[in-house]
Amino acid sequence: MKIRKDSPGILLLSFLAYNLIFMTISKSSAQESFSAYLYADMQPVTIHTKDGYIEKIERLEKLPDNTEKLIIAPGLIDNQVNGFKGVSFSLAGGKLIEEDVLIATRAIWSSGVTSYFPTLTTNDKELLIHNFSVLARVVDKEELYGSIPGYHLEGPYILPEEGYRGAHPMEYIKKPDWNEFQEFNKAAGGKILQITLAPEVQGAMDFISHCHSAGIKVALGHHNASTAQITEAIDRGAAIATHLGNGMANTIHRRINPLWPQLADDRFMISLIVDGFHLSAEQVRVFFRTKGADRIILTSDVTSYAFLPPGEYTTTEGEIIELRADGLLHLPAREIFYGAASPLTKSVGNIMKMSGCTLDEAIRMASTNVARLYGLDDRGEIKPGKRADLILFTIHDYEIEVHKTVISGKTVYSK
Ligand SMILES: [Zn+2]
Repeated sequence: MKIRKDSPGILLLSFLAYNLIFMTISKSSAQESFSAYLYADMQPVTIHTKDGYIEKIERLEKLPDNTEKLIIAPGLIDNQVNGFKGVSFSLAGGKLIEEDVLIATRAIWSSGVTSYFPTLTTNDKELLIHNFSVLARVVDKEELYGSIPGYHLEGPYILPEEGYRGAHPMEYIKKPDWNEFQEFNKAAGGKILQITLAPEVQGAMDFISHCHSAGIKVALGHHNASTAQITEAIDRGAAIATHLGNGMANTIHRRINPLWPQLADDRFMISLIVDGFHLSAEQVRVFFRTKGADRIILTSDVTSYAFLPPGEYTTTEGEIIELRADGLLHLPAREIFYGAASPLTKSVGNIMKMSGCTLDEAIRMASTNVARLYGLDDRGEIKPGKRADLILFTIHDYEIEVHKTVISGKTVYSK
């Protein structure tokens, strides 16, 4: 039997569907509350959220008896994510699809990161444009809750020298080209928030000025620039060093090398990979003492191998890569790192252990400072009016275990 469009059956179904949608919307805008110890002072609080934002922080005498004893902090923000859980944002051989972005993002949430910048590294121009377009088509989808505010392009305008280029393929490294960059940014929907480049290569200084005028953060990385070049780059607006202490040769001049001028200039921030492999504990301690908690950003530099089982894998370039059980990810044949495989929480715990900083400082370096640098004004802090991007976790022996991840007031991960 056919039912006519205006039949009572259809009307009833429409009414039920309308109510279901209405109830779903009401539920998503409902108030939520989370009781835990506040990361900044370890005092018990209840964070009240409404319509996805923090409404109020209520101080408590003690946590309610039936509450798990967890710590609450703003969700972490990672400015360098090459991939996650089998998904690569830049090495997918042109095969990145929209579903991959969702898979990677859900896995990243479970690691305590609530916002991140997919990072595309030196590669074939057409492939970069393709992958940026795939990302641009998916980032505004409702199910991602705005967790991808933009992108980081690392390369291709870096120093092609061995030791400095790291794992970036030589054949695609080139001189800065503002027109080409605009093609990348157009494909990315205008959302490239940061580019990492080498300031000493021809044309880099003018390129930095163009980026600065366009509001795109310039990071210095994979370079061997002199003090004069680094100072000029900072004068022109370069804001941060990408993974300081990495992306450089193992053997450097003791007095004249890119480390000192980047550490010595107080206008300049640094990002650090504190996964236990990329930097020694002494480096981390010295870098922390030099720059302080306000001028450091923790970054993971994770690749698609993060959250995969340990073992040997073959890269898209056909090289053998080893992921060890302890999280070390390297190319054994060339004895170089291949990015990292530890999520950002690992850096939070490690920098506390290595530098002696507090949890409050470590969270600032992994969330607050990142939001501030990139103008993500609604994130990175637990304050009324900020997005309810929260993580609830325990910390034992400097190891963080995420129990719950909340984005825009909605629980997106629960252990
Ligand atoms: Zn790098």
